[in-house]
Amino acid sequence: MTDQELQTLVEKISQESFRQPFCHQARFNRRLKTTGGRYHLQSHNLDFNQLLFEKYGETELIKVIKHELCHYHLHLAGRGYQHRDLEFKQLLKKTGGSRFAPTLTPAVFQIYQCQQCYKEIKRRRKIDTKRYVCGSCQGTLKFLKTIET
Ligand SMILES: [Zn+2]
Ligand SMILES: [Zn+2]
Repeated sequence: MTDQELQTLVEKISQESFRQPFCHQARFNRRLKTTGGRYHLQSHNLDFNQLLFEKYGETELIKVIKHELCHYHLHLAGRGYQHRDLEFKQLLKKTGGSRFAPTLTPAVFQIYQCQQCYKEIKRRRKIDTKRYVCGSCQGTLKFLKTIET
């Protein structure tokens, strides 16, 4: 989905679910890593996470668009636009937006290295290096680092 297609989609949802036009800019922001979307109080523009669309598809993206549009329309109308505000909660329920923008949790891996053949081993969980040895040469493993992907 391109930025232009996203813009058109946001305008359409705004018109259909909120009966009000969306007169600002919507775009994909590559710098959003773990949040699905963001409403900018100053510029009134909306940012969306491309990964969210790639990972969860259009249905989930639409729910996040509705969530951000709740912030947008309430804020512009001078109403309670924050998560804790009753008006926000009510509008969200009415329009079917996601309660919270789904967060994309990065996958965490533990990296170990064999002290004998220097092969690197990637594991989801921490392992006990006193009990586990290198699968190739039976060498001792040493914890190297934790990485997020
Ligand atoms: Zn929000
Ligand atoms: Zn080894």
